[in-house]
Amino acid sequence: MKLAVTDASETAVQLKNYIDGQWTESGAGVFEEVVNPATGGLLAHVPLSGRAQVELAVEAADRAFQEWRQVPVPRRARYLFRYQQLLIDNWASLAALITAENGKNYEEAYGEVQRGIECVEFAAGIPSLMMGTQLPDIATGVESGMYRYPLGVIAGITPFNFPMMVPCWMFPLAIACGNCFVLKPSERTPLLANRLAELFGEAGFPPGVLNVVHGARDVVTAMFEHRAIKAISFVGSQPVAEHVYKAGTAAGKRVQALAGAKNHSIVMPDADLDNAVRNIVSAAFGSAGERCMACAVVVAVGDVGDRLVGMLADALDGMSVGDGMEQHFLGPLIRQGNRDRALHYIEAGLLENARLVRDGRTHPKSEGDGYFLGPTLFDDVKPGMRIWQDEIFAPVLAVVRAKDLTEAIAVANRSEFANGACIYTDSAKAIRQFREEIDAGMLGVNLGVPAPMAFFPFSGYKKSFYGDLHANGRDGVEFYTRKKMITARY
Ligand code: NAD
Repeated sequence: MKLAVTDASETAVQLKNYIDGQWTESGAGVFEEVVNPATGGLLAHVPLSGRAQVELAVEAADRAFQEWRQVPVPRRARYLFRYQQLLIDNWASLAALITAENGKNYEEAYGEVQRGIECVEFAAGIPSLMMGTQLPDIATGVESGMYRYPLGVIAGITPFNFPMMVPCWMFPLAIACGNCFVLKPSERTPLLANRLAELFGEAGFPPGVLNVVHGARDVVTAMFEHRAIKAISFVGSQPVAEHVYKAGTAAGKRVQALAGAKNHSIVMPDADLDNAVRNIVSAAFGSAGERCMACAVVVAVGDVGDRLVGMLADALDGMSVGDGMEQHFLGPLIRQGNRDRALHYIEAGLLENARLVRDGRTHPKSEGDGYFLGPTLFDDVKPGMRIWQDEIFAPVLAVVRAKDLTEAIAVANRSEFANGACIYTDSAKAIRQFREEIDAGMLGVNLGVPAPMAFFPFSGYKKSFYGDLHANGRDGVEFYTRKKMITARY
């Protein structure tokens, strides 16, 4: 489907920050180009803001907080219902904007909008989520109770790969809890963030409750240093997540930092291979592999390997590659640098003697405009090889062979990452062993992307997560609130 991107209205050429309910010139001397990765065409210029803009935004959020925290919780929920309706009303244009700046195909972008709306819906349930607990008689005539309160100003730092869903993991729930928010979206996908802010204003939220400051590292550093920021939600690559966690906590802030991944899918000999291949292909090559829940490694158990690799190769041969607005399945990578990095890993796989079954470099789209790479499949990959170990974040799938389930689980558990893992089998015994022994936070059985919905926590660990409380669900409410305990005798 072709949809015109008309909704970057505030921002067509030089993007502004959204501070205190106003579109504000960044004052930045440096801008970066925002391009459509499918064409290389220029969409906008994004400012790389500095400390002064962060200070303005945090001050606006702090001022707004003094009143927003006192808005009764059911009224806060009503603002969210209005926001949810505006997102629904603008669903198609939001999806088109995601495809334009991120490159994922329109259907996937449409699904991403749904994931974002679900977060707003979850946050709108805040009256019951904010409730405390009481015990009327901890001693004779003495009662005790827990009350829940917002923290203050929260900062959010988000990646390019889910321009809508990931910001929506953060600000709707934080704001529902009574906090005010400063969002620094990815400088590679800033348009959608501005559109979210625009609709937020239309929903009638008071100025300053949500602010957007565009930029990169300098904005984040200024966030660490601002005393009024009480907590930071971060989602992005592993090294940056570790840095944000260490620097943020050293500055006395509460930090949750969701990081990279290398998700394994185990295929058992009894698996329904048609289902397994369909799901693996979608999970490995959907969004061009640029998903933290992407399937990056398949572990083929027993004698299933040859048949599985043959079926995967056939599926890749039929895959359409091109602009996501034109009903192609596999879109571009976000930038040339990301494509170069993927090419480097293909070379590394060859040097380490993995068997290149399908070489995406030879796909005709890899030659033209945009940052395309055809689907790539390696077989005979061994744990320890770089293409097994590192997050490539591209349409490159590795197949490892294992003799049995115990060995397959051991392969997956050697990974430094622990976001997701899947198993394909009809055996309850195998599923139980997988569930009990696998070292990953989000598990799938006979499906490809076991990303939890907004009312559950997004639950990675090891190098996939830094912190204690995860994003979304009750963890999210805990993260964005603090508690007071009162003990009283009358
Ligand atoms: P990235 O780490 O490059 O950028 C993420 C954010 O951090 C951006 O806003 C960016 O401007 C900022 N940033 C970058 N370098 C920084 C620095 N040195 N100091 C401070 N801030 C910095 O990540 P990306 O390429 O935008 O996103 C892809 C990564 O995000 C992948 O690794 C993916 O697995 C991960 N991710 C993880 C999850 C999850 O839930 N675990 C979800 C989505 C994406």
